[in-house]
Amino acid sequence: MLNDIIWSLWRGWTRLRLHVMGRRIVVRGSCKLCGKCCQGIFLSWQEGWIRTPEEFERAKEDHLGLARYKITGKKRGFLTFTCTWMDENGLCADHEHRLKLCRDYPKPDLYFVSGQLSDHCGYRFVEEKDFSKVLDKANPADDTSTEE
Ligand code: SF4
Ligand code: SF4
Repeated sequence: MLNDIIWSLWRGWTRLRLHVMGRRIVVRGSCKLCGKCCQGIFLSWQEGWIRTPEEFERAKEDHLGLARYKITGKKRGFLTFTCTWMDENGLCADHEHRLKLCRDYPKPDLYFVSGQLSDHCGYRFVEEKDFSKVLDKANPADDTSTEE
């Protein structure tokens, strides 16, 4: 419980710090096809990262593909899941038809749930200057309209 509160504070603080400093989290690296991101993972849907079994039931009604996951525990206030589509080698048994969330893994938002990725993973979260904000500052309101 205390751990969950500390993580929640860390998330709030990190979002605020990044915003103030004009920085953002990006994903760097490449996949080593180890299959570790199919086990002990966090899942999200439109209401955010899943925290309770009841929420997971609702999420499955909206996203049938989530039915392939089973709850394996809880970490930092969020449920953890393992996919039942892994083969005996711990790899995806139907890689061709894996879900979009598998194809998109890891998204920067995951940083605010898990902190860094596991050491097995070939990707890392990296903090970088958010150049879109730098450009916004350099070119404030676009007043080049041709209104006459
Ligand atoms: S569908 Fe395949 S790639 Fe996606 S989590 Fe399951 S085993 Fe892994
Ligand atoms: S844990 Fe990382 S390196 Fe391993 S399969 Fe998943 S994305 Fe690829």
